[in-house]
Amino acid sequence: MSPRYDVPKAAPEPLRQVQLLVNSADVENEVDWLPDWLAERGLGSEEVERARELREALRLLVLANNGRPVDPHAVEVVNAAARGLALGLDATGSLTVGGAGDALDQVVAVAFGAMLDGTWGRLKACRNCHWSFYDYSPNRSATWCSMQLCGNRTKTRAYRRRQASL
Ligand SMILES: [Zn+2]
Repeated sequence: MSPRYDVPKAAPEPLRQVQLLVNSADVENEVDWLPDWLAERGLGSEEVERARELREALRLLVLANNGRPVDPHAVEVVNAAARGLALGLDATGSLTVGGAGDALDQVVAVAFGAMLDGTWGRLKACRNCHWSFYDYSPNRSATWCSMQLCGNRTKTRAYRRRQASL
């Protein structure tokens, strides 16, 4: 389902579930696997609009984890989706985000859980292609989904611009 360059920067579970939803579209190449994502999770095509709205809101939030300003509409969408969630404790006394209904609610619960445990900031979207990747670098400084695919291309463009302006 996902292009192979997702593999080295796959997020750990359960945050992977958020990443898989965000990456159910390849924005740069205009490919959308959302119907497959829904079908694999027992949801029908009637959820496409809700899923797409949530996906793009989450994409904007993980772009914000990569230096973009936070989008107010994305905040509204996620807040609306979060209304059915509930904080609680599991059997070990650890804080959990629960009350999740379907797979989309589950994704929102996982995102909130990651915000609570501090791993959320490592889930980013590439500044160039908007593909979501998990930042494994020790100082959380990764900017691109892949240096080969986007980092070098961006550098090449910057280089060409400099050459053109000489
Ligand atoms: Zn990229």
